Amino acid sequence: MPEKHDEQALAFDVVIVGAGFAGLYALYKLRKAGFSVRVLEAGGDVGGTWYWNRYPGARCDVESLSYSYSFSEALQQDWHWSKRYAEQPEILSYINHVADRFDLRGDIEFDTRVLRAAFDEAANLWRIGTNRGDMFTARYCIMATGSLSTPKYPEIEGLQDFAGECYHTAAWPHEGVEFSGKKVGLIGTGATGVQATPVIAREARHLTVFQRTANFSVPAWNRDLTDEEEAAWKENYAFWREKERSTHTGFHNEGGHPRATKLTPQERLATLEDGWRKGGLLMWNVFSDLMTDRLANEVTAEFLRGKIRQIVEDPATAELLCPRSHPVGSKRLCVDSGYYETFNRDNVSLVDVGTHPIKAVLPDGLLHAGKKHELDMLVFATGFDAMTGTLLRIDVRGREGVSLGERWREGPQSLLGLAVSGFPNLFTITGPGSPSVLSHVLMAIEQHVDWIADCLCHLRQEGLAQIEACAEAEAEWGAHVQEVADGTFFREADSWYMGANVPGKPKVFMPYTGGAHKYRAHCDDVASSGYDGFILRAHSTAAPSAADA
Ligand code: NAP
Repeated sequence: MPEKHDEQALAFDVVIVGAGFAGLYALYKLRKAGFSVRVLEAGGDVGGTWYWNRYPGARCDVESLSYSYSFSEALQQDWHWSKRYAEQPEILSYINHVADRFDLRGDIEFDTRVLRAAFDEAANLWRIGTNRGDMFTARYCIMATGSLSTPKYPEIEGLQDFAGECYHTAAWPHEGVEFSGKKVGLIGTGATGVQATPVIAREARHLTVFQRTANFSVPAWNRDLTDEEEAAWKENYAFWREKERSTHTGFHNEGGHPRATKLTPQERLATLEDGWRKGGLLMWNVFSDLMTDRLANEVTAEFLRGKIRQIVEDPATAELLCPRSHPVGSKRLCVDSGYYETFNRDNVSLVDVGTHPIKAVLPDGLLHAGKKHELDMLVFATGFDAMTGTLLRIDVRGREGVSLGERWREGPQSLLGLAVSGFPNLFTITGPGSPSVLSHVLMAIEQHVDWIADCLCHLRQEGLAQIEACAEAEAEWGAHVQEVADGTFFREADSWYMGANVPGKPKVFMPYTGGAHKYRAHCDDVASSGYDGFILRAHSTAAPSAADA
């Protein structure tokens, strides 16, 4: 460990912010390529999302044999996944195993939150300041800060006055939480709330779920993996990975889905029943025109509402749980384990806070529509300031001291979700404008890290000092991202994809909907063309001119 405040000791080729899946792989890859690397991590250990989100029921909605690194065949072969969908503790054990196996911890500073990162033009360095008073310098700075890493708390009067226990699912206590004998109130019915609800209900004296917007959810049908399933993957990992890389979403089981409009009503129903029986995110692809054809979407929505009515015994509760405000898939589809069934329990009630918002938090409960709900505990499953929130909490300054916050005042602009004009030698992993959260995110991470590592090797080999996104190329890519999203139903929901869950945040559709496979091919073309759309410089200079390009 370097001596604090020793400038030499804090100088690296690359500083990576974040030690989740992205930061760890970036460290592994760049260190192997011969760069000196330091990772700065706010948490006390590795894991990112899986370090923080320890709420009951936390589980991945991508199948575990697929939701793992592909870069090491030996790792793929050695690791044993117990379930179809891995639960948070198992994923965190996997990440810890990776950190130990590849000896990564020694290059990570834990409990170190990056507060600022400023580009020093004269020195052609990033200066990266932390909460511990250290200033790191690096030629390259890589933001591996995650897309869903800044928890969003609800804006409700009196929040600070609650005298009981109060938790956000994304900042869950490591020692766990005792629900038994308690009246628990849970706010939020997105992917997180839907996972936590059944588990809390089994333990609490009473659970009240406060629902603002009903969401579509499909069963996970989670279960133990069989030896045969594991063997089938392990014998053919290269094949499955190639399959993942060739699909729109990065999921191995995508492809061959019919267009709803080409089917008879009976065939549509049979397809939907089959999708429900298989469960999980596959339902997002049940029809290839789900996100572009109104009939396909409405038929699917009505099918899912029908399932809710079949499962939930009380008709009024069932109707309240039926989503009507947005097309299926325009908000992330939830994947649950007994969510709707939970509302048949005597100790669970559902309160609609969509028609009338929660009025206030009181020391011993919530005030809503003139009624007081007495509570011992509040659980916020209220999501994140997604995709840009964590980046903008860091004071990032590029050329001429311009801040990223100013540059993104009207919404994020980024070339490929990888780089921002005016911020040379800064990279974002799964940044806005890339498929990231709409795809198999581990695939997306590996693709970005590989691209960045190749890019840094290219710069080193060519003796180049800087790479920077060209403003025109960035604007063109941004227009393309919006244009492709316009051809889908994604914009019709007030979702976190749109920044709509954070008051005052610009409403811009942030991820790239054009397909992970096409995006990957485009990134490869950019690299093989000599980084078309980027400005490469032999020396650090002031503002770029066209002649630099
Ligand atoms: P989310 O999808 O943003 O859901 C937040 C919930 O809180 C929504 O139901 C929202 O209602 C509600 N809410 C926010 N403020 C409120 C208020 N003031 N009053 C009442 N309700 C309020 O967040 P999330 O569930 O944490 O999920 C975020 C993303 O994380 C997911 O979409 C997914 O990509 C990822 N995730 C994945 C998994 C998995 O792999 N299985 C699990 C969890 C999360 P509105 O809808 O009305 O805004």
